[in-house]
Amino acid sequence: MTDAFESQAFSQRLLEWFDVYGRHDLPWQKAINPYRVWVSEIMLQQTQVATVIPYYEKFMQRFPTVQDLAAAEQETVLAHWAGLGYYARGRNLHKAAQLIMEQYDGEFPVTLEEVMALPGIGRSTAGAILSIALGKRHPILDGNVKRVLGRFYALESWPGEKQAENWLWHKADEHTPAERFADYTQAIMDLGATLCTRSKPQCESCPVAKGCRALQIGTVTDYPGKKPKKEKPIKETYLVMLQKSDGSLWLEERPQKGIWGGLWSFPELQSWQECEDKAQSRLGSQTSLLKWEPFRHTFSHYHLDITPVFAQQKPAVGETEGDYPIGGVGRWVRLEELAQDKIGLPAPVQKLVEQLQNY
Ligand code: SF4
Repeated sequence: MTDAFESQAFSQRLLEWFDVYGRHDLPWQKAINPYRVWVSEIMLQQTQVATVIPYYEKFMQRFPTVQDLAAAEQETVLAHWAGLGYYARGRNLHKAAQLIMEQYDGEFPVTLEEVMALPGIGRSTAGAILSIALGKRHPILDGNVKRVLGRFYALESWPGEKQAENWLWHKADEHTPAERFADYTQAIMDLGATLCTRSKPQCESCPVAKGCRALQIGTVTDYPGKKPKKEKPIKETYLVMLQKSDGSLWLEERPQKGIWGGLWSFPELQSWQECEDKAQSRLGSQTSLLKWEPFRHTFSHYHLDITPVFAQQKPAVGETEGDYPIGGVGRWVRLEELAQDKIGLPAPVQKLVEQLQNY
């Protein structure tokens, strides 16, 4: 088969399959516009469809337009992002909404270069927004498409390598048909998400199985090549859950840069010794510390072993409760306020707050 014929057959078969088996009623496939597609694409970047749906619906209720998103406080946006992880995505979405208001008068830009210039939008996401929402011909190359094409061509290299990635972009472009761009974009993402899955691909139902090299070789999951393994480093931290007798908790706003940027967290200390020193000098002489069971939270680049430390303020005679915060920019927050989703908390802090509510 020539490449041109192969590409045409690939997209035709894929579109025929999509018409019957593709996903057509996801929330972002209704009332399609660039804003709605953009938010969905950003949420879907590192998160499964089933997890994204309730977050997406809640987000759209609160910020139905780019104007609403741009006008909101960052804290409110992050509170609606909390639980999805990778908070830089939420911060960038908010920043980009403000840029769209300032530079494009609230109209979503329409060229690939303009869209890619917005914070948090790479070439594949820009291509997906423009093809799905505006029917423009742009290839995409997200994780699903890399896997599908990597298997279809039995690519031995890891798609994260520049050369392999460039080659895949070339193939993605070649396969994008001359019409029905929006459907094709959705179709190839659906194929990767529903049939050509990471661990158990269902090749017997695949519309492009006939040309798939990995299937012909017989060890489909060996393709595309894997990232060379590197052990994740382990870091340790102590989160101090300081509580007043009325139940309120001391929370500090994290700096914009670094993990959990812009979210609210318990103060972080580096060692048990530091917790004891701070308890002595800052928290009031009667404050007792209680170490809770440590647990692990894993980020993309490292594991964080977290030891929660519960500290209940008990002022001695002559001391005033609440006068001894650990440091940093923070405030006392009532538990009811936390239950109202007004404050963005990172997932491990949210988990600890829930445990404290039942403590
Ligand atoms: S035949 Fe199997 S491995 Fe090949 S593209 Fe289809 S689902 Fe993926």
